[in-house]
Amino acid sequence: MVSGNISRRGCTGALRRWTAKKARAYLPAWLRQVSAELDLPFDRASLRKQRTRWASCSARRTISINEKLLFVPALLVEYVFVHELCHTVQLNHSRRFWRLVSCYEPNFKTLDRELRRAWRYVPWWMCEPGSSELNQSHFEAVPGAAGPP
Ligand SMILES: [Zn+2]
Repeated sequence: MVSGNISRRGCTGALRRWTAKKARAYLPAWLRQVSAELDLPFDRASLRKQRTRWASCSARRTISINEKLLFVPALLVEYVFVHELCHTVQLNHSRRFWRLVSCYEPNFKTLDRELRRAWRYVPWWMCEPGSSELNQSHFEAVPGAAGPP
């Protein structure tokens, strides 16, 4: 991957390319599997390196997946997928949306809380230099759950 004069930047680049490749190989296929299990179809999956969200769903049912999920425990990744797939039905965070989520994942409140702390699993070389993203809470708020201070 890296040969010759190895710089920190060169290593970071190689690690990020490796991550992008693994993310492409695993995450969309995993999302498709969860989608089939839940019978909640989506249109397209794309990979991104978002700084503030784990995934998102557009009105056209395109689900953008954060490559950084590759470093997050599987249970939490599955929850992200359930959450986004429910957005293909309800593109908001209404009561209806959360009711739908709870049908598929009754433990969603705990998982959502865990997910806000899951940025700590992401290695430093995936983060932008000087960013404070590791210290921030990033997943969307659940009604009734305590928000950031
Ligand atoms: Zn959401």
